[in-house]
Amino acid sequence: MLQTELRTLRQVRAPEGFAGRVLAAVGLVERYALVETPIGGVYVAWNEHGISAVMPSASESAFRRRFAERFERPAERGELPATLRRVIESGDAAEARRLRYDLRVCSEFETAVLRKALEIPRGQVRPYGWIAREIGRPKAVRAVGSALAKNPVPLLIPCHRVVRSDGTLGEYALGAPQKVTLLKGEGLDVARFEREGRAGIRFHGSATTKIFCLPSCSDMRRAKAQNVRTFRSEGEARDAGYRPCKHCRPVAA
Ligand SMILES: [Zn+2]
Repeated sequence: MLQTELRTLRQVRAPEGFAGRVLAAVGLVERYALVETPIGGVYVAWNEHGISAVMPSASESAFRRRFAERFERPAERGELPATLRRVIESGDAAEARRLRYDLRVCSEFETAVLRKALEIPRGQVRPYGWIAREIGRPKAVRAVGSALAKNPVPLLIPCHRVVRSDGTLGEYALGAPQKVTLLKGEGLDVARFEREGRAGIRFHGSATTKIFCLPSCSDMRRAKAQNVRTFRSEGEARDAGYRPCKHCRPVAA
């Protein structure tokens, strides 16, 4: 209803900023603020449904234009809530999970993918196939990639923590070099990840617990180096008498 009215307003050539002022007057206006992050300044937008957008932009006017194109509604500059600033700056996964997100632009499948990505802890990564299997769509690996590429709230919903399993990090909504910067900043040993992936290593196992994990799982990082075994497949790990970790629920794809 409101949306229709706004479109009508546009057709009768409302004065610049008029739609935003109408929304502001009824308390529904979308707000945005500029936030500094490890990959530079990004614009963050939020409304009464939650956080709706995270976008890097060369300028405020470029952001406003891109925002209006994608979401078909205006946004006005606002004061960033302190909680939101803290979560963006810390990259804390548990805090990011507690925030509300406005994912109305996403399909049901895309929403499931993004909600699952939100579970990946800081400093860890999961393969695209992990998300596909976890959401009950094991064959939809490519569709998972497309859904992540369209993530309207990158950084907060950490799609940068989803990677390929062959030792390459894969694409990222905000750029491949930015993905490396973010993952290194979160403590992932990117060089080791790439080296092992290229060598076909998919899992690490602990010789003491007889449990195998995705290499970045925090359980595995606690294992002493001399007790760590590497496996190229789930079959290889199981044949050696190892069980899958209940925390990272390892998958090779
Ligand atoms: Zn694990």
